[in-house]
Amino acid sequence: MSQPIPPGSGQHQVTTKKYTFAPRMAKTPKSFIREILKVTEDPRIISFAGGLPSPALIDVDNIAAAAASVLAKDGRTALQYSTTEGYRPLRQFIADRYRKRLGLEISPDEILITNGSQQCLDLLGKVLINKGDHIAIERPGYLGAIQAFSLYEPGFHPILLHEDGPDPAQLADCLLKFPVRFFYGIPNSQNPSGITYSEERRREIAGILEKSDALFIEDDAYGELNFAGKSLPSLRQFIPEQTIITGSFSKILAPGMRMGWVVAPPAIMEQLVIAKQASDLHSNYLCQRIAAEYLQNQNIDAHIEKIRASYRKQRDVMINCMQDLFPDTVSFTRPQGGMFIWVTLPEGISSMKIFDAAIKENVAVLPGSPFYVDGGGDNTLRINFSNSTEDKIRTGIERLASVIRKQSQS
Ligand code: PMP
Repeated sequence: MSQPIPPGSGQHQVTTKKYTFAPRMAKTPKSFIREILKVTEDPRIISFAGGLPSPALIDVDNIAAAAASVLAKDGRTALQYSTTEGYRPLRQFIADRYRKRLGLEISPDEILITNGSQQCLDLLGKVLINKGDHIAIERPGYLGAIQAFSLYEPGFHPILLHEDGPDPAQLADCLLKFPVRFFYGIPNSQNPSGITYSEERRREIAGILEKSDALFIEDDAYGELNFAGKSLPSLRQFIPEQTIITGSFSKILAPGMRMGWVVAPPAIMEQLVIAKQASDLHSNYLCQRIAAEYLQNQNIDAHIEKIRASYRKQRDVMINCMQDLFPDTVSFTRPQGGMFIWVTLPEGISSMKIFDAAIKENVAVLPGSPFYVDGGGDNTLRINFSNSTEDKIRTGIERLASVIRKQSQS
């Protein structure tokens, strides 16, 4: 009889084998956020470091009812393989919503369902970027996009982000000097800064892009989370043939379902579908069916309004605490939506040191430097307000303010 195998056997084996990896892996940064989140798993820590939606706003009961109904009515089909493009009624729902929210005429044929909107970034990298190609990205830029695109080894051109959007002169200059494949940006409640582009800046950016061959990848992960319920125009309204939109159910339904989509002109869509087939055949069909069932039977507008009202309140509590407690030398954005506030500390104060000191006080923040593809941003922090209760926000900001004051004096 063979001996029972003790727990842990087979793990942590020392090996002398040398593995060879594709050079692109050495150029792709580890997700700093995922690394930091490991530190913040301790339940005593108040974490403003991650980017999670509020767990209280995930409509578990109605998602459970939608799942039960799909499985009872059509389980054998819902558990089968399906088409790469995605479940048509779900794509129709997305198209209808664009018409209602933004007045955009989009056909379901221009929509591909993806495994979260993060997968759109990987697929777009696959079909658009060759090694050494030029791409432009906001400065600071979304870390998940920097990571996804890095795998395809482009050259990044960071475009400074002001309070009302990307610097138009810098973008125009970049497009003039380099054959830029695309500009990737987040016009609504940007991650990490919380900045929303003004309508005027959107028109200006579209006008600049129109004069070039560059595409605009409009990441709209937070478009539904505008606290005033006000929707500013998508760049697709101005430059439809040059705009690709990515969208997500993560912030309005549930991130664990991994439901996202990409909207692209037909010729680009054709390539994206091929890349998606090679990548995973199709997105989780059961989850697509559950999402469609939920959206058909529930009042999604009322649910989104509930999320907006809650995040608006959480933002207000956090901003008020920051105003009362942070030294005057610290500045921060006042986001109109989304989940993040961007804090700029006085020059010379290291956010890494603030992170270390804050963790000792059981509060976690996210240092801003990884969001800069060209270095810098050492005195910036990203702070999440969606995942903490109002009490935790007050306590956490009090602790953070005292850490910042101490560091400012030393
Ligand atoms: N884009 C942005 C700007 C994000 O903040 C996120 C989530 N952090 C994503 C894309 C990816 O989200 P998901 O894959 O859950 O749709």
